[in-house]
Amino acid sequence: MLLSTPIENLPRVGPQYQKKLKKLGIKNVGDIIFHFPHRYEDFSHLISIAKAELGGPFCFQGEIVDIKNIRTFRRRLVLTQMTIDDKTGKLKVMWFNQPYLINTFKKGTFVCLAGKITGKGKSIYLSNPAYEKLLNYELGIKNDELTHTGRLIPVYPETEGLSSKWLRFIVKPLLAKLKNQIPDSLPEKISKKYDFLPLSKAIWQIHFPDSLKLAEEAKKRFAFEELFNLSLFVLRERMKLAKEKAVAIPLDLAAVQDFTKGLPFKLTDAQKKAAWQILKDLEKPRPMNRLLEGDVGSGKTVVAAMAALDVAKAGYQVAFMAPTEILAKQHYKTISDLLGEFNFNTSLQNPQGFCRIGLITGKENYVQNKKITRKELLEKLKDIDILLGTHALIQERVKFEKLALVVVDEQHRFGVKQRARLCGDRRGTGEGQSLIPHLLSMTATPIPRTLSLTLYGDLDLSVIDEMPKGRKKIITKIIQPKNKKATYEFIKEQIKEGRQAFAICPRIEPPKVSRENLLGGELSFQILSWLDVKAVKQEYKKLSEEIFPDLKIGMLHGKMKSQEKENIMTDFKDRKIDILVSTSVVEVGVDVPNASVMLIEGSEKFGLAQLHQFRGRVGRSDFQSYCFLFIDTPGIVYNRRLRALITCENGFELAEKDLAIRGPGNLIGQRQWGIPDLAMSSLADAILVSKARNEAKKILGEDPEFKNYPLLKKRLEAFREKIHLE
Ligand code: ADP
Ligand code: MG
Repeated sequence: MLLSTPIENLPRVGPQYQKKLKKLGIKNVGDIIFHFPHRYEDFSHLISIAKAELGGPFCFQGEIVDIKNIRTFRRRLVLTQMTIDDKTGKLKVMWFNQPYLINTFKKGTFVCLAGKITGKGKSIYLSNPAYEKLLNYELGIKNDELTHTGRLIPVYPETEGLSSKWLRFIVKPLLAKLKNQIPDSLPEKISKKYDFLPLSKAIWQIHFPDSLKLAEEAKKRFAFEELFNLSLFVLRERMKLAKEKAVAIPLDLAAVQDFTKGLPFKLTDAQKKAAWQILKDLEKPRPMNRLLEGDVGSGKTVVAAMAALDVAKAGYQVAFMAPTEILAKQHYKTISDLLGEFNFNTSLQNPQGFCRIGLITGKENYVQNKKITRKELLEKLKDIDILLGTHALIQERVKFEKLALVVVDEQHRFGVKQRARLCGDRRGTGEGQSLIPHLLSMTATPIPRTLSLTLYGDLDLSVIDEMPKGRKKIITKIIQPKNKKATYEFIKEQIKEGRQAFAICPRIEPPKVSRENLLGGELSFQILSWLDVKAVKQEYKKLSEEIFPDLKIGMLHGKMKSQEKENIMTDFKDRKIDILVSTSVVEVGVDVPNASVMLIEGSEKFGLAQLHQFRGRVGRSDFQSYCFLFIDTPGIVYNRRLRALITCENGFELAEKDLAIRGPGNLIGQRQWGIPDLAMSSLADAILVSKARNEAKKILGEDPEFKNYPLLKKRLEAFREKIHLE
C-alpha cells in the first residue's frame, strides 16, 4: 500500500464510489487520507442508560433487545423502533424513514449509538442516532475500536452519495495500514522550530482526534505546510521566470506624457504609481508577471492602455483578453478611443502611422473599426499592434509574430485550462529565440492581502487604492421587506428624472449540489446560469407586470445568445430600456454612466465582495447613485455583514471583512486557483501566512534545488499538477 496506489486497487471502493471520489479530485490513497474533515461531531460523551436525560449528544452502549418497523397512520413515515439494554436500564431508540435498518440490526447484537435524547416526561428516546455494531462492550468503558460513535467524529466535505460515514469507513483502515509510512516532506528543522506534531500523529489526529485541541494542532500543522508549499512553489516559479528572457521595452516617456496630457481627466496618484511600476517592469529583459488590483471603477483600463501604448510604440504586439464578448468589445472601444488616433512613426507596414487596433471574438472581428472576417483578421495579424478579444485570442491559429505583452482582465473569470493555454502561448514569440511576453493580470476581485502576497509577493503587485476624484459616494441602504414599496416608488422617480436602474435577481440555491462544489468551477457556472434563467424570468415578470408596468424593462441572462445579450446591452446603453433585470452570473461589467440605481434582491445570499462588485456598476457619473439591498428575511442576522457595505466603500477592506466574518469559503475563484482548502482557510491567520512565507524564502535561499530535501522536491512536483497559477 502506497500513497500513490490508485483507488481502483482498493477492495472497499467499487466503480460507483470511484466515480464519486474522482468528482472530489481523489484519485489515489494519498488523496483520500489528505482529504481532511472540515469539522467534528462530538460523540464522545458515553453515559449509562440510567443516566439518560434530554439533550446530548450522548453515547450509549448496549444490547439490542427489541427492534421493529412501524408505519405511521398516514402511511407516509416509517419509524424504526429499537430498544437497547445496558443492564442499568432500557432505552428507546427511533429512526425515521430508514426501514432498511431492520436488516442491519438483530436482537442480541451489541451496539454503540450516539445522538440526542428527545421526547417528553417518561417517554424519552434517542432520536436518529449514529450507530455501529460492537463485538463486545464493558459498561462505562469506551471501546477503542469505535469509528462512528463514542469519540470525536470527523465530518468531511461531502458530495452527493458520498457520506462522511463511508469516508470514515475507508479512511480508518488506510490510516492504520499506512501508519509511519507516509513520507514527511516538511523539513525537520521547521517542524522542530514550531513544535508541530509529527506527521504520523498529525494525520491520525486530524481524522480521528483524541481531543479538539489535538485536532486543532494537527490542522495548524497541515495549514502551515500547505501555505509553506504554496509559497515555495510560487517563489520558485518566480525564480525560474526571472531566468527567462523577454523583450525589454525601452520606456518612451515622451509618448506616455503625450498620452496622459490627452486624457479628459487627471490620473490619480495610485494610477500613476501603478503605471510607473508596470512601465519599469517592461524595461527589463525578464518577463513581467504583475497583478494589477483595483476596485471596480478605479481606472485600471487606462493604466493597461499606457502599457499597451509603450509596447506598441516600440514595435511589438499586445494581446488583451477579456472574459466576455461584451467586455472585450467595450475594451476594444475604449482602447480605440484612447489609442486609435495615436501617431507612431510611419513605416512601410504602417504608412499612416496610427496605432492599429483589432478585436477578435467568437462572433465578430474588427481591425481599425472595420468589420472583417476571421480569415482576414488572421492574415492581417502581423500588422495589428493591439489585439483585443475573448478566448478566441488563445486559439491555436492566432499566432503572433512579435507578442511582447499579454493583458488579462478579470483573470479569475478564466477557467483553468484557458489560463494554462495562454501561458503556454507565451513562448515562441519570434526573433529566433524563446522570448516570453510580459504578463499583466488585472482584477477587481478583492483578494485578501495575505493571499495576493502569497501568490505574487510585494514586488509583483500593483494596487490602485484610490478612486478618481469627484465621484459621489454611492448611497447604500438595506431595505426591509416592508419598505420595498417605497423604494420602488423612489426608483420610479429616478427614472422619471432620466436615470436608469439595474436589478439583480435573487440567487437560487441549486438543489442537491453542495455549496463547496459551487464555488467557482466551470460546472457550477453552468448550473447557476440555468437556475438563474428561472429567477430572472420571474423577476422580469414581477417588475414589468406588477411594479413598473409603465416602464421599459429588459432582461439579461447567461443562457441568451451573445448577439441577444449584445442587443440588450446596446439598448440599455441607448436608454431604450429603463430597468435592466439581470442574473448575478451574467457579466454586467459594462459602463452605463447614466444608470444610478442598483437594486439587489435577496442580497443576504451574496458575499460582500460580490455585492460590492454589483454596486460598482453605478456611481460612474456625476449623478447621485444608490444601491438598495433588498432582504427577504427580516431581522438582524444578515445585517452585520450588509452593514459593513454601508460604511465601507473599499472592496479590499470588504474582502478582509468577509474573510473575517464568513471565512474563506466565499472568496471568488478558489477553485480556479486550485489552492488547497486548508491553505485557503488559513489565510485569515496573517501570522501563520507570513511565517510560512519566510521559511519558504529561507529554504530557497540556502538550497534552491532542494538537494537536501528530496521529499519536498517531489511534493512540489505533485503540487504543480494541481495548482494553476501564472
Ligand atoms: P475598472 O478599474 O473597473 O476597469 P475603468 O478602467 O473601466 O475601471 O474606469 C472606469 C471609468 O473611470 C471609465 O469611464 C474611465 O474613463 C474613468 N476614469 C479612469 N481614470 C480616471 C481618472 N483618473 N479620473 C476620472 N475618471 C477616470
Ligand atoms: Mg475593468
